[in-house]
Amino acid sequence: MVSVHGWERFLEDQSKITRFIANSYLKNRLVHAYILEGAKGIGKLSFAKNFAKMLLCESDDRICGSCRSCQLIENEKHVNVYMIRPEGNSIKKEQIQALQAEFSKKAAENAPKVYIIEDAEKMSVSAANSLLKFLEEPMKNTYALLLTENKEMLLPTIRSRAVVLTFTPMSREKLIEQYKSVGIHQYAPILASLTQSLNEGIRWSESEQFSSVVSLVLKTEECLLKVKMDPSIILIQNPEIFKNREFQLLYLNLLIIYYRDVLKIKLGKNDDLSFEAYTTSLCESSEVNTISDCLRKIQIILDTEKRLRANANVMLCFDQLFLRMKGGIEGCNMP
Ligand SMILES: [Zn+2]
Repeated sequence: MVSVHGWERFLEDQSKITRFIANSYLKNRLVHAYILEGAKGIGKLSFAKNFAKMLLCESDDRICGSCRSCQLIENEKHVNVYMIRPEGNSIKKEQIQALQAEFSKKAAENAPKVYIIEDAEKMSVSAANSLLKFLEEPMKNTYALLLTENKEMLLPTIRSRAVVLTFTPMSREKLIEQYKSVGIHQYAPILASLTQSLNEGIRWSESEQFSSVVSLVLKTEECLLKVKMDPSIILIQNPEIFKNREFQLLYLNLLIIYYRDVLKIKLGKNDDLSFEAYTTSLCESSEVNTISDCLRKIQIILDTEKRLRANANVMLCFDQLFLRMKGGIEGCNMP
């Protein structure tokens, strides 16, 4: 039984960590640092904000959600709640130093202070080391919430100074069911593979480009299978998609999901397919691709994603992706 009102909405999906935090609070056993680990879109930020509201809400025995403090926290404007997010690809040392400067200014105030670091695994080594000093000598009534998809990517020295709260993933069945309940059918299994966030999935399904990107994935495989077809035509014909970083990454993610389906068919697991509405394409592909072809393609796509995120030239990345997937320059090391 959680007796801190205001945690109820987290109880159904994240019962364990919700009870743990509410009880720790009631028993005065909160620690200075927590790692919130869970898939993208699962609600880590909203959980972290609730944590801050629990400490700063102006109402006595509950998290009201509507007082001035709660509102400011929700809108990320509360002076005692400090947000850090990657600037570009990383969280820099200067960002951690700015946090330290900000919080030491207010050291005299007794009110609790919370800092939330999103994508904490993106801290540069020097940022992580600065943070470590902060964690080693925590200020009174100051709490760190480090949000990450994978705690293994944080420095072990940081991990050892924090309590890990692991979010329970939402089951695929449940996600698909929720999409269907809001009228999304054809794309439901794809969206359930793409993100744990229902809102993000709905936003994708409402975007005009989503269906275009799904078609492009099918088209790509068709071009790869047919000797005479050149997949780089896809780049030329769809400039509006390949100009946009969000769609570039979506395209790569969907390609991976597609080849995972082909792999499943190869392994005889035909039930839970993401591209279940496109089984003709999947079956054709599974007849031609071997298991190692699928694994090789997935690896090439992951490499491409990594290079894109490192700001490599977009057209070059995709040209090489197609060439390598088609087997043209296999074994060649990318610059
Ligand atoms: Zn409140």
